[in-house]
Amino acid sequence: MDTSFSPQDLAFRDEVAAFFDEAFTDDLRDRLKDNKQFKEAIVEWQRKLNDKGWVAPNWPVEHGGTGWSPTQMYIFDSERSSRGIPNTIPFGLSMVAPVIYTFGNDEQKQRFLPRILKSEDWWCQGYSEPGSGSDLASLKTKAELDGDHYVVNGAKIWTTYAQYADWIFCLVRTSTEGKKQHGISFLLIDMHSEGIKVNPIETIDSHHSLNEVEFNNVRVPVENLIGEQDKGWTYAKALLAHERTGIAGVADSKRALGEVRKLAEREVNGGKRLVDDPLFQKRLSDIEIELMALEYTDLRVLSQVATGGAPGAESSLLKIKGTEIQQAIQTLAMMVAAHYQGVLPTELDGDVLGNDFGMAARRSYMYGRAATVYGGSNEIQKNIIAKAVLGL
Ligand SMILES: Cc1cc2nc3c(=O)[nH]c(=O)nc-3n(C[C@H](O)[C@H](O)[C@H](O)COP(=O)(O)OP(=O)(O)OC[C@H]3O[C@@H](n4cnc5c(N)ncnc54)[C@H](O)[C@@H]3O)c2cc1C
Repeated sequence: MDTSFSPQDLAFRDEVAAFFDEAFTDDLRDRLKDNKQFKEAIVEWQRKLNDKGWVAPNWPVEHGGTGWSPTQMYIFDSERSSRGIPNTIPFGLSMVAPVIYTFGNDEQKQRFLPRILKSEDWWCQGYSEPGSGSDLASLKTKAELDGDHYVVNGAKIWTTYAQYADWIFCLVRTSTEGKKQHGISFLLIDMHSEGIKVNPIETIDSHHSLNEVEFNNVRVPVENLIGEQDKGWTYAKALLAHERTGIAGVADSKRALGEVRKLAEREVNGGKRLVDDPLFQKRLSDIEIELMALEYTDLRVLSQVATGGAPGAESSLLKIKGTEIQQAIQTLAMMVAAHYQGVLPTELDGDVLGNDFGMAARRSYMYGRAATVYGGSNEIQKNIIAKAVLGL
């Protein structure tokens, strides 16, 4: 990619690099790794990005976007990931915000968008329910009109970071007539409302990011309805396309794969390099090629979005390939950790391959199993491609 950068692009890259090097401090990096300080640290980081005007590159300029070209977006993301800087939290910035600026009314735009930019509200996503995941349209959480309020009853599950959230965007059932996709509405609910209970769910990596959220006679003002009542399925699908595109995570995969290669090229254990193992070498090369192909597809979608288009069924393709590659890289990282296990840290210039790497590899391998499930499972994405692209 480098070869096609114009002098302006290169100047932009220097500006981005200088900003990241100065603003993303070691202290911030340490605090982001600590569960107890995570929320405060990520909010601090997002505010620094917002002060620079760079927190929402994908938004239209009139709402606070950057107006960058696809190449600039690519440069920004590459510089971010090459430094191991986490992405911004998607629920507000990349998920509900596009729904609000596309389908919301002026009052909703003025009320919510500036607060999302400034990270004043933490959002979470209330789509899945205990009985409705892949078959999302079967959802049962009910919202009944009572004067100028909806009264919401039901439960959402797998709600990421609900424990931190000020707001939840929810799909709720407002009618049971007709097809199940009809009668769903898109409601913004204040998480501090009476009648909401958040129950934690711990995942296999011993981490708490998931929750169940119960709604017991929660009163929600009608002005928090997005668009028209019973038409929420349309808005919900638009949001999912944005979510799935983001899940591809090409820049982060490039960084992770580069790290795996670098470590596997080390000569330890009597000069035996893991990268010389033919099986490992083949796996590594296969993934590098697949990742390069994914990167070009990702750039094509980016370019489409930058010129005013919305991501369509390509987002399903990006989601499938992106998450399969992430899991393949996590498996290689486990092979690296296993190969070098037992090597004394001093032989390795510190603890690069010691506990830190092994622990991080195990964590991301275990949590990474979820990537082919969340955002709509990969099997469901294949069904979408079969229908929308292949016309089957
Ligand atoms: C880590 C994590 C974070 C999440 N965060 C959120 C969140 O913040 N908010 C939110 O709303 N949801 C969230 N989810 C939920 C996620 O969207 C659902 O898990 C997902 O849509 C699958 O639904 P399910 O778990 O009910 O599985 P099911 O729908 O029960 O599926 C079980 C299996 O059957 C397969 N299957 C089902 N139907 C079909 C079919 N028609 N054809 C072929 N195969 C099929 C699936 O692919 C899957 O392998 C999260 C999930 C995870 C794992």
